[in-house]
Amino acid sequence: MSDEKMKMPKFSEIEYKRPSIENFRECAMSTRLKLMAARDPEAVEAAIMQFQREMSAFDTAFTICMIRHDLDTSDEFFNVEMDFFDENYPVVSDLSASVYAALLHSEIRPQLEERFGSMIFRKIRNQRDIVNSEVLDLLADESALENEYSQIVSEADIMFKGKHNTLSTMNPYMESTDRIERKKAQRAVSDYYNAQKPKFDQIYADMVRLRTEIAKKLGFSNFVELGYKRMERYDYNEEMVAEFRNNVVKYIVPITSEIRRLQKNRLGVEKLYYYDLPCLFVHGNPVPVIPPSEYFSTGAKMFGEMFEKRPSFFEVLGEHDFMDLFSRQNKATGGYCASLLDYGIPFVLMNANSTSDDVATLVHESGHAYAALRSIDSSQFIECLSPTLEACEIHSTAMEYLSYPFMEMFFKESADAYREQHMTLALLFLPYGCLVDEYQHVVYKNPDMTPEERHAAWRELEKKYQPDVDYDGDEFLNNGGAWMKKEHIFTSPFYYIDYCLAQVCALQIWDISRKNRKKAMTIYDHLCAEGGTKTLIELVEDAGLESPFSLDVMKKIAYQVCDFLNL
Ligand code: ZN
Repeated sequence: MSDEKMKMPKFSEIEYKRPSIENFRECAMSTRLKLMAARDPEAVEAAIMQFQREMSAFDTAFTICMIRHDLDTSDEFFNVEMDFFDENYPVVSDLSASVYAALLHSEIRPQLEERFGSMIFRKIRNQRDIVNSEVLDLLADESALENEYSQIVSEADIMFKGKHNTLSTMNPYMESTDRIERKKAQRAVSDYYNAQKPKFDQIYADMVRLRTEIAKKLGFSNFVELGYKRMERYDYNEEMVAEFRNNVVKYIVPITSEIRRLQKNRLGVEKLYYYDLPCLFVHGNPVPVIPPSEYFSTGAKMFGEMFEKRPSFFEVLGEHDFMDLFSRQNKATGGYCASLLDYGIPFVLMNANSTSDDVATLVHESGHAYAALRSIDSSQFIECLSPTLEACEIHSTAMEYLSYPFMEMFFKESADAYREQHMTLALLFLPYGCLVDEYQHVVYKNPDMTPEERHAAWRELEKKYQPDVDYDGDEFLNNGGAWMKKEHIFTSPFYYIDYCLAQVCALQIWDISRKNRKKAMTIYDHLCAEGGTKTLIELVEDAGLESPFSLDVMKKIAYQVCDFLNL
């Protein structure tokens, strides 16, 4: 993006207009007719590009609406507009599927594949495999169940220290340096889940039954196969993922035991219990030394130095209001980066609240934003601008590692503690992510398990991936209830391993950056620039990294991380 080429608008100046479904429908129908009649690739390209512009406009309107809604959830106008999109997005998806079906069945398909590349055709075929008119009602039921779970946890009201708390405001108590306090906080959260257990068991049982039914209707033998298709796993399969998890058990789990041993010594406790785990340092986890009001100017400086360019992309986005960093009343929680396709500009939303998470999130979302800007011209198809989700997470996670040398700007003398904490959490995450993943394989391959059998299966798997966790008589957790705390298990089946695969790729970039910063930056830039034009392993290998499934990579990463953490 350059200011010279096109005057960049401010986000606040961008006009929102509700798109017309009738116009979209007309464009889809006429494109379909043109595609069926087309005898040469030029005519196909002209038709499909016109349709792409229509889709881009629709998607852009949706994104503007979503962001404005999230910036002020009390704004009635955008609440109504969000309902419009909830209702009409499936219509638009259905219409675009019919256009793409014409592309797939074109008589000159080989010429088209040559012209457009194979990725878009892979995506179209995949889409056709995972949804058809027979399962539309079941899909609506599935999302209703997902919403039910999310609604319940978002309304959690936990009384603690005489105050009402949500699940996320309980986090600081669970990280407390006061052992009694963190133990009580954990118990309060367990009590909350224990009270919801019958409800959550029922929701999950219904989900498993429903997802299995959808899979069978689509011709799969179980939901695992459909789950992989939904996650668009084009070049790896269940066996490779199982092998990846085995590598984690073999090479990463022993390191986590060592981390826990050192943590126990540091905290000076006789035995490390589950409520001690979130507290890594005796004096508490590091927090930024600069006030949140300086995050923007510091981020601008950091990315300027990192990419040797001022103003940095971060600065340009911020100066044009494409960033909203701070938590406030009536703003949606969490953090994300969403692209306005018509403008080629990403928007970053997060909720800074003066914890070390602020900096990691700022850098993480900026990684997504950088990739969105870098890949803007990578494909003529909007579907191929950003890659599958594991690859997107490499953009963001690698940026977290590439920012290590600049962390003094945010943490001054606690920068070392921040890096140690960040790397430690990354490593501890790998076994946990694999646990969440294997659990879902067990569940969906045995859809008739009772709730008790599911809880027992989780507890068994915990012993394999987290051998050092002692629940100290907490009944809910001892009986295998911890999986209920993981929203992804309910709402995004099979997504979780993506974070682990991305982590292993990002750690390779970190490892290279320690020896050759310039090379690491080149690899990172290349990976971002490719957008979604290739599959995961193609992207990774093309950028000069090794497949995350490689045993050698896991060993090498394990060794380097131990070196970094002095283990
Ligand atoms: Zn991310």
